Amino acid sequence: MRPGAKVDLASIDTRSHDGAPGGKEETEATFPELIARLEELQERLWAEREQSLLIVLQAMDAGGKDGTIKHLFRGLNPAGSRVASFQAPTEIELTHDFLWRVHQVAPRRGETVVFNRSHYEDVLIVRVHNLVPETVWRPRYQHIVAFEETLAAASAHVVKVFLHISKEEQAQRFRDRLEDPTKRWKFRLGDVEERKRWDDYQAAYTEAIERTSTKHAPWYIVPADRKWYRNWAVSQIVLETLEAMNPQYPPLTDDLTGVEIV
Ligand code: ATP
Ligand code: MG
Repeated sequence: MRPGAKVDLASIDTRSHDGAPGGKEETEATFPELIARLEELQERLWAEREQSLLIVLQAMDAGGKDGTIKHLFRGLNPAGSRVASFQAPTEIELTHDFLWRVHQVAPRRGETVVFNRSHYEDVLIVRVHNLVPETVWRPRYQHIVAFEETLAAASAHVVKVFLHISKEEQAQRFRDRLEDPTKRWKFRLGDVEERKRWDDYQAAYTEAIERTSTKHAPWYIVPADRKWYRNWAVSQIVLETLEAMNPQYPPLTDDLTGVEIV
């Protein structure tokens, strides 16, 4: 999303496979190569220790955040990478400003960090459920832009991804979770209640994306009904970001000429 552009989620086809190298099989056949390139660039980023990468993942329930993370980490070495997941704030967290818990787990130089949900919940669920008055959540768009600018000024590259699924796809995934004993643990009764507020969430996402897509921290809306496309698109976004960052192995600090291993 270009900064300042209008967002119309309903007009974006959640089953699209725009830009993919082909259908499911052809696209998945490119994964080993994609993963190998990701691996190499992330290792260089970690070795360089100059820049960092933050990938913010947001989605409706069952939108595929977990599956995306699993896929991405096929190309990320756990040394130098990690996931930070955000649940409802604890009592202590609530006694601080909303960014306090977020800043603590932001990437340090060299690191690649994926946020599974994020500070955006503070203008999403918080808005939809009126957890704080509008006079409190509305100024947060600006706080978020300034916060992400602060990270960028400290050499972080921030990319934000909204996994966009349809309401029908969510229903199908909920049914799968209910029917499949290996998936049932993912289902929460609260999910049914949240689903009733689908339109409110779409509106909250629309405004959040419109107000916070900036040059230093852009939003990407990824059609996510098809898991293979979602995995391809997110890997591609991360790969292109890393390529633009162009991390380099660090210069040698010791003079190694004449060193012999005996
Ligand atoms: P899935 O999408 O697979 O259901 P999940 O991300 O919903 O996974 P859960 O542990 O079920 O994982 O949910 C975390 C919950 O915490 C979400 O409902 C989310 O909205 C909530 N949450 C996160 N941040 C905040 C916040 N700042 N204020 C209130 N609730 C929050
Ligand atoms: Mg959930």
